[in-house]
Amino acid sequence: ICISSIVVLTKSSSFSRDVEIDTTAYLRRFNYLPSISENSLESESELVSENDMGIALARFQEFAGLKVTGIMDEATYKKMKQPRCGVPDFAEESTNGRQKRFSLQGGRWHKKRLTYSISGYANVRNKLTRSQVDITIRKAFNFWQAVSPLTFTKTRGHADIMIKFAMIDGPSSILGETYYPKYGGDATFDMAEHWKFGYSTRSEINFLQVATHEFGHAMGLGHSNARGSVMHPYYGGYDRD
Ligand SMILES: [Zn+2]
Repeated sequence: ICISSIVVLTKSSSFSRDVEIDTTAYLRRFNYLPSISENSLESESELVSENDMGIALARFQEFAGLKVTGIMDEATYKKMKQPRCGVPDFAEESTNGRQKRFSLQGGRWHKKRLTYSISGYANVRNKLTRSQVDITIRKAFNFWQAVSPLTFTKTRGHADIMIKFAMIDGPSSILGETYYPKYGGDATFDMAEHWKFGYSTRSEINFLQVATHEFGHAMGLGHSNARGSVMHPYYGGYDRD
């Protein structure tokens, strides 16, 4: 009994030590913890009190639809490893953790006819052809065009919404990130993902699903904690084509 409990203790403490740095960075990245202030001393600003960490974890668990315990557990850790959108789940000033379904948190466009332009095709040409990219992006904009007063027209060179494939953080983790209209509305897709046009398996990322989500941000929509909502931050892995 003694030996096995020692093994369990060692295992769980090394587990929590391993994820602690990740957890803090992750919670900061998505605005569950305040980001590091440039004015404060590095050693001071990187310290997170146990209480603040508990509150941040509880907010995260609530938003992710997990059991709210305020402590790190396997389900929470697993959720943090799930591929997702790079846009924070809350505006930085938000503290109560409440988010309306389809909340307009990023301002909105002051015109209805918007243009978009795509670059960086070459970065994903071994996964998606140029026409697969064009078709998918058109489909994603059609989804939003049908439910909003906005129209999206493809153009070359400068456009309202500039779309590109570029490196974000390598495979998995962050799939794409998009600025809200008040910051320009531009979208980036991580060129390192296993993008797939059409039916996608578990190890592939359905491009239409991610593109539709990202363009929701380009229109000013924030994240929804409702699973199955197109604005849910986590990649669901289902086939929408
Ligand atoms: Zn998002």
